[in-house]
Amino acid sequence: MKLLNPKAERFEHLDEPSRQIMLKTIAFFENKGKARLKHDDHERVWYRDFLDFLKDNRIFSSLLTPTAYGGNDCRWDTARNCDFSEILGFYGLPYWYTWQVTILGLGPIWMGQNDAVKQKTAQLLKDGEIFAFGLSEKEHGADLYSSEMTLTEIKDCEYRADGGKYYIGNANEAALVSTFGKMADSDEYVFFVVNSRHPNYECVKNVVNSQNYVAQYALHSYPITDADILTRGQQAWDSSLNTINVGKFNLGWASIGICTHAFYEAIRHAANRRLFNHYVTDFPHVKQLFTDAYARLMAMKLFAARAADYMRSASATDRRYLLYNPMVKMKVTTHGEEVINLLWDVIAAKGFEKDMYFEMAARDIRALPKLEGTVHVNMALIIKFMANYFFNPDVFPEISRRTDPVNDDFLFNQGPTKGLGKIRFHDFQIAYNRLHLPNIEIFKAQIEVLKTFLATATPSAEQAKDIDFLLIVGELFTLVAYGQLILENAAIQAVENDMVDQIFDFMIRDFSKFALQLYSKPSTTQKQMDLCLQMIQKPVADPGRFEKIWKDEIYALKEAYQMND
Ligand SMILES: Cc1cc2nc3c(=O)[nH]c(=O)nc-3n(C[C@H](O)[C@H](O)[C@H](O)COP(=O)(O)OP(=O)(O)OC[C@H]3O[C@@H](n4cnc5c(N)ncnc54)[C@H](O)[C@@H]3O)c2cc1C
Repeated sequence: MKLLNPKAERFEHLDEPSRQIMLKTIAFFENKGKARLKHDDHERVWYRDFLDFLKDNRIFSSLLTPTAYGGNDCRWDTARNCDFSEILGFYGLPYWYTWQVTILGLGPIWMGQNDAVKQKTAQLLKDGEIFAFGLSEKEHGADLYSSEMTLTEIKDCEYRADGGKYYIGNANEAALVSTFGKMADSDEYVFFVVNSRHPNYECVKNVVNSQNYVAQYALHSYPITDADILTRGQQAWDSSLNTINVGKFNLGWASIGICTHAFYEAIRHAANRRLFNHYVTDFPHVKQLFTDAYARLMAMKLFAARAADYMRSASATDRRYLLYNPMVKMKVTTHGEEVINLLWDVIAAKGFEKDMYFEMAARDIRALPKLEGTVHVNMALIIKFMANYFFNPDVFPEISRRTDPVNDDFLFNQGPTKGLGKIRFHDFQIAYNRLHLPNIEIFKAQIEVLKTFLATATPSAEQAKDIDFLLIVGELFTLVAYGQLILENAAIQAVENDMVDQIFDFMIRDFSKFALQLYSKPSTTQKQMDLCLQMIQKPVADPGRFEKIWKDEIYALKEAYQMND
């Protein structure tokens, strides 16, 4: 597996129409050039040129219409959508954002019961329209139970919608805005669509100061009929969470794209800058910063691509994606922040310059852990899987790499969002026992101590109520699952052992860091503290391996990519 290089990548794993989509999109950005890209970012120019390009090439229609509604030219295929997300992140988060919120807006429509709206949506996508997802409200953030948007029945099958939504992308132009609310009389949940051009729809303002539009909108007695309603009751609730399941996955790919572009800029700059009669890349600490950034980025990509295999293979009896998918959201995106931190420590002042892509990357990378449920909300979700993951494995057929050109039907038929604690996983030790490398052995020893901690020094009822305490336990748990999928994918993609061992070098250090944090919690018992100390380990130093990776894989990228001016 390699970093995306838009000027060299041929997308040979894709079929011809998909390959053309990716190549044309890259050509759009390279023709636009970095100077214009940065100008539009600074001046907050609405990306009409990009939307026109998408429309002319029917790109959203091809990528985001299920085959059943769009015909053979269309399919919702998570693997190629990951490629597209990565490309958009690579060139700028605002472009990715209009794609992302269109995906979110489409979720409740494709998951809903309203066939007429689905047919209309397929046509709107062909016409080059964009969509929006009206879930968040100003006063309630993550607390969806408190939603105040209401639908009041006026007479049979006719209603009026009143209320406001906040932080809604594309809500200035979306042809359909999927809006979540409650029935005024019964408090039953409901999802319905509105049109942002209707006179009773007020786009109040853009609440952010960036190129994309993140709107506050209000519905003033907006007329709704049964023909606009997508789902009601439990199905409406489920489709809000199931839509986020689909959407939040893309956050990781945006992060990978951003980090990759920033990496190319940073290594080019550092390798060509001479200080004190040395190139900056000759300093040992700079080599270490780059190697950590690169290993983290490779790990992000290996994990996220493997998680896509599980997304595409999910079914009512295989819901393992519900662990891996929030990890793409919270773990890959927080590691993305770390990559940018490391690179910024190398390029220092250069990272502030207005003509650098890096300046955008440093700002935008921060957004991804905070959208679609914060890291905390996702971690609170993930912890429910921990007991079955460690102590109650099941047997599943092995999932292969999934780049086959099929529609991902199950994503729009995920069913109830309940029962997370009952989901079973395959034995994580299978992946860990396949390869015997020095740092994997140390990491396995750390995992064993964590299992002992959970089995014999189990967090008390008081500790389990303390989210602050649980979040750190969750960090340790997710590192185990992170390493597992990295190893699975390293085998599939034939990643060299040296690279895998280098990845586990930072994994051991991350595990040790969280073990120390757990040790330091006020409520940790003596037994728990003793076990935490056993979890703190040091990776095996292998200067030969380090130097080889630095020279052959990292320094070798110094002239690999530069965006057209
Ligand atoms: C640029 C941008 C674009 C957005 N686009 C959209 C969009 O298109 N459509 C849309 O519907 N929304 C959108 N959002 C809203 C976004 O999804 C919310 O910001 C996010 O869900 C978190 O809500 P909040 O920021 O209001 O935080 P709050 O909900 O106010 O949370 C505050 C704190 O409480 C913690 N917390 C809350 N609940 C829990 C819990 N159960 N367990 C543990 N900790 C918890 C949080 O982690 C956080 O630290 C967007 C937001 C931004 C900034």
